Amino acid sequence: MYDCVCYTCSYSDRIKYHKRFEILQSVYADLSTTERSDIMIDKDKVKTAVNLLLEAIGEDTTREGLIDTPDRISRMYEEIFGGLDMDPKEILAKRFTVKDSEMVVERDITFYSMCEHHLLPFYGKAHVAYVPDGEVLGLSKLARIVEVYARRPQLQERMTNQIADAIFKELKPKGVMVMLEAEHMCMTMRGIKKPGSSTVTVATRGSFVDNESLQSTFYGRVRNFRL
Ligand SMILES: [Zn+2]
Repeated sequence: MYDCVCYTCSYSDRIKYHKRFEILQSVYADLSTTERSDIMIDKDKVKTAVNLLLEAIGEDTTREGLIDTPDRISRMYEEIFGGLDMDPKEILAKRFTVKDSEMVVERDITFYSMCEHHLLPFYGKAHVAYVPDGEVLGLSKLARIVEVYARRPQLQERMTNQIADAIFKELKPKGVMVMLEAEHMCMTMRGIKKPGSSTVTVATRGSFVDNESLQSTFYGRVRNFRL
């Protein structure tokens, strides 16, 4: 007889669950001893975890519709959490010299992320602006930097700050302003169920901080000026 601490064993197939529990424990042990930045997505661990999850909700993991689900999710997670393996520094390294310092705004950058509290999607638009100080980024880079921070377990507030910090630190512009507008599935399909509500977060750095006229220029360009 096994002496398993997994309470599931007491009312189900004891040996089977005990072995699964051992696998899960080794997953956690690995995670705690590995540096976060060294972790690449381990597809086998994702498969094991999804199998356990399906079992835990009482599903038959051998039925046709579910048999390939763990494998599908492991491949999908590689994509939607791929930002963990991307280096924002690399993306922001390519820069061009400019003389003037007019505000650059890239708006309506669509993003999809995963709320780290529920592992449910939140998605919407990012608007990113900066006032250059001698250098500008290639236009696609602002969208790529949003992608880096969206493709990981995330909080909208933190993501907003991370985008602003990365640009402010690497490009060293006079100022940065970032606004994210997103709908959270954890708000709309469960809990208080408020479809259509959106969460707006803003981060300012450098010359944008407490500068109402610069901020209202930003809001004006994001809101009013439509092509
Ligand atoms: Zn959530």
